[in-house]
Amino acid sequence: MAEILLEGHDLSFAYDGRTVLEGINFSIREKEKLCVVGENGSGKSTFLKGILGLQAPVGGRVLKNPGLKQSDIGYLPQESPLQKDFPAAVFEVILSGRQNRRGLRPFYTREDRLAAAESLEMLGLRELGRHCFRELSGGQRRRVLLARSLCAAGRLLLLDEPASGLDPIIQTGLYQVLEKINSELGMAIIMVSHDIEGVLQFTAPGTDGRAGRVLHLAGRQLFEGSAEDYRESEPGRIFLSGHRHCGPGS
Ligand code: ADP
Repeated sequence: MAEILLEGHDLSFAYDGRTVLEGINFSIREKEKLCVVGENGSGKSTFLKGILGLQAPVGGRVLKNPGLKQSDIGYLPQESPLQKDFPAAVFEVILSGRQNRRGLRPFYTREDRLAAAESLEMLGLRELGRHCFRELSGGQRRRVLLARSLCAAGRLLLLDEPASGLDPIIQTGLYQVLEKINSELGMAIIMVSHDIEGVLQFTAPGTDGRAGRVLHLAGRQLFEGSAEDYRESEPGRIFLSGHRHCGPGS
């Protein structure tokens, strides 16, 4: 069985003494896809920040495989207004994902530039490499930021609502790219989503036949297991039926 990259035992998180998430147990293995689902405010972003080490747990612990370095992890946060204004070319924005590996070196290496070029290619952005980031559409910007996190990642990619704000056709393209990143590059991916179509597309079996797993949060853990079992579970049935009847973006 593939090695465990990260696992959490009885994790809880709080802000200013108010507990927002408790009793979380999870693991992610090499090459696995894990989808973190739940309504807005259920603790998904907090969970992601917690396993990244950006938010310390107030209970329990996160165990990291000793072979997994912080620089092996790529992170795509939710879009912030600041990100829209990067005054740089697309290629430079993607390359800046390698800063975490650069340490004290003043320049990027040939390997860094190669990784950025590969990410650009993987996300179908070759034509846009020299374009100015802030002149792109929302969908293109999201792809560039995904390429940036991919370029930063060695073994694990953490994505916070990567498809939010994109129209359905572009969303489908994005999930196809994630599938490629997972099955062709063997990258483990944890994706946060509150959108059921996203959950279904992301966890569907890939070209290598492997389906994803689901962690459903609601201030606590409602479900953790395979996507197939999730569909049959009570939280899964409620979540899937509730969101199916809603329009796009709801
Ligand atoms: P989700 O990603 O599922 O929408 P979050 O993890 O962002 O949920 O938020 C979980 C809860 O924690 C919410 O009640 C939210 O208001 C609260 N919260 C999130 N970030 C902060 C913060 N920086 N300070 C105080 N409360 C926060």
